[in-house]
Amino acid sequence: MENKIYLVPVGEIEEGMLEALEDHLEKTFQCQVERGEDLGLPEEAYNPQRDQYFSSFIMEGLRQSLKAAKPHKILAISDVDLYVEGLNFVFGEAELGGHFCIISLARLRQGFYGFPEDKALFLERAKKEAVHELSHTFRLRHCPDSFCVMHFSNSLSDTDRKRASFCSRCQEQLKKSRVR
Ligand SMILES: [Zn+2]
Ligand SMILES: [Zn+2]
Repeated sequence: MENKIYLVPVGEIEEGMLEALEDHLEKTFQCQVERGEDLGLPEEAYNPQRDQYFSSFIMEGLRQSLKAAKPHKILAISDVDLYVEGLNFVFGEAELGGHFCIISLARLRQGFYGFPEDKALFLERAKKEAVHELSHTFRLRHCPDSFCVMHFSNSLSDTDRKRASFCSRCQEQLKKSRVR
């Protein structure tokens, strides 16, 4: 039974963002979305040379502390810049067909690039990243349709081009994977 999504802040996340995500995920995945307790950022995940946090390390911590929450889907949200081995940064990371995924809000803000903040755009980007990573846990892979939320985002222009929803093929696949 994979009928619940837990939204788990890792470090402080603004309330408005969490509420907007809850609402969007509930509609998109048609299931209950619950808020988990803020787990706080594990200091050991911080890499001072890169001034970033090691995403896979945070995911492992989630796995340890939230074992009991299986078999639900758990989306961690952090506001720090994340990386994985071999990449400069990641917008997020997910277990394909698993339970855990994480997104970072850090690079979704216009302010990160020296532009004036744009709250609506920030929210829209966060919704897309959240749906994208969660869908990986529902076994969805990357989609060649550049407007589909499952299209891989190499940069924010990819994220801004795509919609916060699925193409018909991915929508169909999500449905199939939900009834298994
Ligand atoms: Zn992806
Ligand atoms: Zn698609």
